[in-house]
Amino acid sequence: MNKKPRLPEIIGLLKKSYPGAECSLDHKDPFQLLIATILSAQCTDERVNKVTPALFKKYPGAAAMAAAPPADLEKLVHSTGFYKNKALSLKEASKAITGKFGGEVPRTMEELLTLRGVARKTANVVLGSAYGIAAGVVVDTHVKRLAFRLGLTKETDPEKIERDLMKALPKSGWIWFSHALVLHGRAVCGARTPLCGDCPLKKLCPRAGVTPP
Ligand code: SF4
Repeated sequence: MNKKPRLPEIIGLLKKSYPGAECSLDHKDPFQLLIATILSAQCTDERVNKVTPALFKKYPGAAAMAAAPPADLEKLVHSTGFYKNKALSLKEASKAITGKFGGEVPRTMEELLTLRGVARKTANVVLGSAYGIAAGVVVDTHVKRLAFRLGLTKETDPEKIERDLMKALPKSGWIWFSHALVLHGRAVCGARTPLCGDCPLKKLCPRAGVTPP
């Protein structure tokens, strides 16, 4: 990597391409977003969006989902993968929301992390996209790959990547930036075949034209 990343310019170019970047998981409230994000582990948002309408129709809130028969939850989320574990997380997280948090998805990182199936990525998605609270930066597989390629981190551990991004970015950009990177990762900077020739960031990117990662 010999080109120095110039973050303000990267942000400016991403703003032009993805001005209103936001979470692509369909949801109507914080609970639905929490559940959709838990389901999105090792699964595409597109697939999750196919599964959640039937799930939320049958179990629209935390109390209903907490009382759901495990086998029925497993059936409903089966196609998102790891369905046994995910169904258990859905039920246990719903139970905790109902029992400990008065039926409302909590608004702090600390409390969210007590819910089964919730790590920092999920908590950041919920805080940022449901409550508008910038507690951190979402680091998913796209953000991880792009932050590395763009020279914004040398780390591979998501928590360390998040720390680097939090240090480098203005707090006002924490929520938008990760969604923009996700969109750019899907549209242009794919894992196997980054389209560097068509990429608006190519003049600033240390990995432009270089083979993955
Ligand atoms: S120049 Fe290539 S590697 Fe760099 S962000 Fe664009 S597509 Fe990805």
